[in-house]
Amino acid sequence: MTEIRNIVILTGAGISAESGIDTFRGAGGLWENHRVEDVATPEAFARDPALVQRFYDIRRAAIQEKLPNAAHMALAGLDARWKGDLLIVTQNVDDLHERAGASRVLHMHGEHLKAWCTSCDVRSHWRAPLADRPPCPVCGARTLRPDVVWFGEMPYRMDAIYAALRDADLFVSIGTSGAVYPAAGFVRDARELGTRTLELNLERSQGSHWFEESRLGPASEIVPAWVEEILM
Ligand code: NAD
Repeated sequence: MTEIRNIVILTGAGISAESGIDTFRGAGGLWENHRVEDVATPEAFARDPALVQRFYDIRRAAIQEKLPNAAHMALAGLDARWKGDLLIVTQNVDDLHERAGASRVLHMHGEHLKAWCTSCDVRSHWRAPLADRPPCPVCGARTLRPDVVWFGEMPYRMDAIYAALRDADLFVSIGTSGAVYPAAGFVRDARELGTRTLELNLERSQGSHWFEESRLGPASEIVPAWVEEILM
């Protein structure tokens, strides 16, 4: 067996579930009682910007009250101690990886705590509401939107993600349902490259059969256990 030097970790909503942030598919396909089409698409924003802004304002405020859990802390510890390459690719728009202390984090679906000005194309750190249409701090236009990737939009930094996957010896997927592409396809890309693959999830995900190994349980237990093992 080749020595593991480079690791890519994909995280999804399941890693933040025990911090009190709802997963996406938990409640019968609804996301906090909204259909995805009504709040997380460019079409929804064009149709009813106030509704979409309010939905994200509530979530932006809520995540600031949440705390990282033992799974985020364990990955931050791995990030601090792992000598090889490591990239935590997260589908999450919360900032719990960073608040746990991780720095090698890539937000492929954007971040709740950033606002994107569609006039000047600058992304600014943002904690306040957007529904009252505040001006962009850079150009003054009232055209800020949440800096999150909606369904139908291109995830961020795919080149960097595929480059890391090409160099990885191990691909680990944590707390993700395997339903949202392109992230759901990373395991197949990894397998084609001969990379080892491991899934850590509460239950078997849709793409579970693609993984060489699946460990099932709450992230706050199985992630620290795996990190301890890999650091031995
Ligand atoms: P998902 O909701 O589709 O799937 C979550 C997965 O996590 C499920 O397979 C579930 O079994 C598992 N899970 C639930 N609780 C768990 C726990 N305690 N420990 C381990 N696993 C657990 O989430 P997804 O695959 O990330 O896709 C949803 C999309 O919605 C993403 O693109 C993401 O951007 C967005 N989203 C983000 C957040 C966030 O930022 N925290 C929350 C909800 C949705």
